[in-house]
Amino acid sequence: MGDRDRARDVHVVIVGGGGTGAALLHDLTQRGFRCTLFERGELTSGTTGRHHGQLHSGARYAVGDVEIARECAQEVTILRRIAADSIEMNYGLFLALSDEDEVYGDAFAAACEAAGIPVRRIAVDEALRYEPRINPRARFAYVVPDGTIDAYRLPLQFLASATAHGASVRRFCEVTRVDTTQGAVTGVCVFDYTRHDEEICPADVVINAAGPWAGQVARRAGVDLPVTPAAGTMVAVRGRICNMVVSHLHPPGDGDIIVPQRGLSIIGSTQWETDDPDGMVTPEGDIEWLRMRADELLPGFSDEPFHAAWTAARPLAGRSAGGGRALSRGFTVVAPSGEGPHGFYSVVGGKATTLRAMAQAVADRVCHDLRLDIPGRTHATPLLVHREYFRRSIA
Ligand SMILES: Cc1cc2nc3c(=O)[nH]c(=O)nc-3n(C[C@H](O)[C@H](O)[C@H](O)COP(=O)(O)OP(=O)(O)OC[C@H]3O[C@@H](n4cnc5c(N)ncnc54)[C@H](O)[C@@H]3O)c2cc1C
Repeated sequence: MGDRDRARDVHVVIVGGGGTGAALLHDLTQRGFRCTLFERGELTSGTTGRHHGQLHSGARYAVGDVEIARECAQEVTILRRIAADSIEMNYGLFLALSDEDEVYGDAFAAACEAAGIPVRRIAVDEALRYEPRINPRARFAYVVPDGTIDAYRLPLQFLASATAHGASVRRFCEVTRVDTTQGAVTGVCVFDYTRHDEEICPADVVINAAGPWAGQVARRAGVDLPVTPAAGTMVAVRGRICNMVVSHLHPPGDGDIIVPQRGLSIIGSTQWETDDPDGMVTPEGDIEWLRMRADELLPGFSDEPFHAAWTAARPLAGRSAGGGRALSRGFTVVAPSGEGPHGFYSVVGGKATTLRAMAQAVADRVCHDLRLDIPGRTHATPLLVHREYFRRSIA
């Protein structure tokens, strides 16, 4: 019996139908595992459906963490190959607006080059030719390969590919308990909101991909998981004021990126810690402040018709006081250790840009622990288009 056949006898339950859960379902199904994903609400109804939509070239993180920057750069290349339908490769401009920005620019260019991110310094006249509405008082700009992700379509592409190969997706099903016997996972208890019914689903492996709720899900397995939900507000105005991603050339902070997303322009974000990712209220003050910040990059942003303001929570790995800016934007795979039950895994942190890499790292770890030699192939497998997910579920 080969490793792939042995994998077919292993039932993996994934908790969470955001981008990370979707990418995991695809990766593990492709390796031959039997997989079921439970999502307590609609697909992508967590952070995934509400993020900024920037496909990070890695430039934003290059000065602070060259490894994260390199990982983003690699994932951009892979996603362009496997999920072109969900990506708009519009590139990004980092604008220098002050003396400090000019100084930071040297470190920025050097760090991008070290991370393998193509970067080009251009004069403001050239930048204005690309984006006529940027601040004409900018001193200069860097062009980097940033882009825009369709937050909904990308996970659906992963789900379409997974379900086409036999994976099961259960929406409106909340995992309320992780069952264990003699220190090993045996299944999950699920409440199905469509049937108003509880059921037990047997499982050999349970993977917690519940984003900012990962701490809550881990507690249901008796595991104390260090995760900080860090909330952030974004504001959208109608119309594409820019076609490129426009960022402020300075260390990552609040209100310093404008992303064009379909027919909208979105400024984000702020950041603060929250105990309750379900109870977040968008602070009124954030909205005015973000619009003012947007005007510094694209004058007149705040005069455009207001579309919406909303808040989402980043699932940052680790614990911190003070908003979480100090926490890494990298991801962590928490595998069973002395305390937690055997077969229970969590993945926290990361970004929508790196969801495929996160899934691959978890799947590698599961294979390693089960002594199965099945390499991942998601980096080289083009995904089905997002529409296939619905076509197949109706069929
Ligand atoms: C303000 C902001 C801006 C961002 N901008 C960007 C950006 O521009 N580019 C980028 O790459 N990244 C960005 N990110 C990061 C990115 O959004 C997240 O890293 C990513 O969406 C997390 O996806 P996830 O699948 O891990 O979590 P989620 O999308 O939150 O998915 C977790 C899912 O688990 C479900 N769930 C919870 N508990 C249970 C349970 N008990 N049973 C069943 N299901 C459960 C939830 O309903 C949810 O759908 C941003 C984040 C924030 C907050």
